[in-house]
Amino acid sequence: MALIVMKFGGSSVADTQRLYRVAERITNTYKEGNDVVVVLSAQGDTTDELIAKAEEVNLNGSKREMDMLLACGEQMSVALEAMAIQRLGCPVVSLNAWQVGIHTDSRYSGARIRRVDASRIRMELDRKRIVLVTGFQGISPDGDLTTLGRGGSDTSAVALAVALKADLCQIFTDVDGIYTADPRLVSNAKKLQEITYDEMLELASLGAQVLHNRSVQMAKRYHVDLEVLTSFANVPGTIVKEVVKMEKVIISGVAKDCSIARIALVGLNNEPGVAYQLFSLLAKKKIDVDVILQSIGRGDSKDISFTVDLADCDEAAAVLEANRDELGFDHLDVRKDVAKVSIVGGGMLNTPGIAAAMFQALYEEHINIQMISTSEIKVSVLIDKAQADRAVRAIHSKFFD
Ligand code: ADP
Ligand code: ASP
Ligand code: MG
Repeated sequence: MALIVMKFGGSSVADTQRLYRVAERITNTYKEGNDVVVVLSAQGDTTDELIAKAEEVNLNGSKREMDMLLACGEQMSVALEAMAIQRLGCPVVSLNAWQVGIHTDSRYSGARIRRVDASRIRMELDRKRIVLVTGFQGISPDGDLTTLGRGGSDTSAVALAVALKADLCQIFTDVDGIYTADPRLVSNAKKLQEITYDEMLELASLGAQVLHNRSVQMAKRYHVDLEVLTSFANVPGTIVKEVVKMEKVIISGVAKDCSIARIALVGLNNEPGVAYQLFSLLAKKKIDVDVILQSIGRGDSKDISFTVDLADCDEAAAVLEANRDELGFDHLDVRKDVAKVSIVGGGMLNTPGIAAAMFQALYEEHINIQMISTSEIKVSVLIDKAQADRAVRAIHSKFFD
């Protein structure tokens, strides 16, 4: 007997037939004698629909009220799934974040989990019930509902697996594993049997939304092996773990991120302290900055460009404009029509020529590179958003065909 955490994403519970199919999957695991804790996302496009509804009422509604609203989606799912399981005659209970005690900080719409209370779930498992828990939501120190950021239900599942010391954490989704690129974009992408936490964390952080990046971070920190698999068939998925058995590959995947923007400050003073001043202003507003590029100074002026999340772009530009005199730049250039395309692989560290091969693939497609950033296990480029899909296919085919 094992304690298994199973997480089902929005497409897996999108309609009544799918709720039934998931109910069968859950009860089969339960009938094998396991303790089963299930984390669910909101059905299908529910979260997007709730956001659209909010925007109909007020484009600038507070984040607190947004979280209050968005948390409804997951609550619907667990109640409906519980009813589907009741039809199969198995004991089940659904719980929301309040009832479980999923404690977060108070960062509405991007809350971090601080602590998960295991006692209520343990009590329900002792009563031999299947326990369904709302993904994506938590409660703040003030007792308000919070949400963990888009895609956050994966992180809820891993947090529960950690708190309950689960034997296995399975993430069921609409693809049958992790691929060398988004299989919806690259038809000949290859399925990976295993991938390391580090590589998966890079892929997830660089835009492969198959796993929420914080779920991978948490799984790594607490040594939770994750399995990513499909809810639509009975086939093995991909295991995410510390060390993989297979010989290390040079490149494990290609990812794209279209939710970013580039901001350039042209004509800054070429003197010490400018970067410090600029990035401190953004840090104070809790705006994360990603790729940074500084030009070589031309006499007494220089330029600095950087990328931010698309969602933070307007706020970042406004803060910089408001401090134009203090920063002393000539003009601010904001571009939202950009995308970041990256390759990730633990083996690239000792293999020269990987970045060159990526740049060649882009050159052959006549795609211009605006910025480049590298680390030990990734190379990222910033390009035109309209060319991103073509870039992913060309880069993938350079490394995998
Ligand atoms: P869920 O609703 O189950 O959480 P998501 O939509 O968040 O599902 O994540 C699954 C999607 O991730 C897939 O449909 C696929 O298009 C996309 N995806 C992006 N990159 C990859 C990748 N490297 N491997 C597998 N899927 C990927
Ligand atoms: N329902 C939330 C979203 O759509 C959380 C999730 O699905 O993981 O982002
Ligand atoms: Mg997801």
